[in-house]
Amino acid sequence: MHRPDPKKIIAALIELNSLQNDLIDKPRTTKRAAIEESIQNLRSQLPTPILSHHDRIRLRRRSSVAVVKNWFCGSCHIEIPRGSHRVLQFGQDLVICENCGCYVHLLPTEETEEAKAEKPKAKTSSRKRAALVEA
Ligand SMILES: [Zn+2]
Repeated sequence: MHRPDPKKIIAALIELNSLQNDLIDKPRTTKRAAIEESIQNLRSQLPTPILSHHDRIRLRRRSSVAVVKNWFCGSCHIEIPRGSHRVLQFGQDLVICENCGCYVHLLPTEETEEAKAEKPKAKTSSRKRAALVEA
């Protein structure tokens, strides 16, 4: 089965949410036709189950995508379970917030900060281990 890239799906969903918000915010926009065309274009790239999930969330007038900050969902502010952290960090799969149901993702900058924060820790522990061996 063809597995679409989760990062591309998130990017398409972010764009889709923002276009749909544009139509709500500016109901009289002269660009309506162009926006609707872009929406259709994005929708055609997304798998049906993801689209129906997105549409269900949009019915509640919320964005279907949220950014994770300090491992909290940016939409409902409930903590993301530990089991999903690695999946989010490596972007292997789509992660859905268990509480509010939106697709959650890390910002690229947070990903690198997270990686940076983990490296020095690893160094300290290996140095400690070396000291123990010497002693
Ligand atoms: Zn949530």
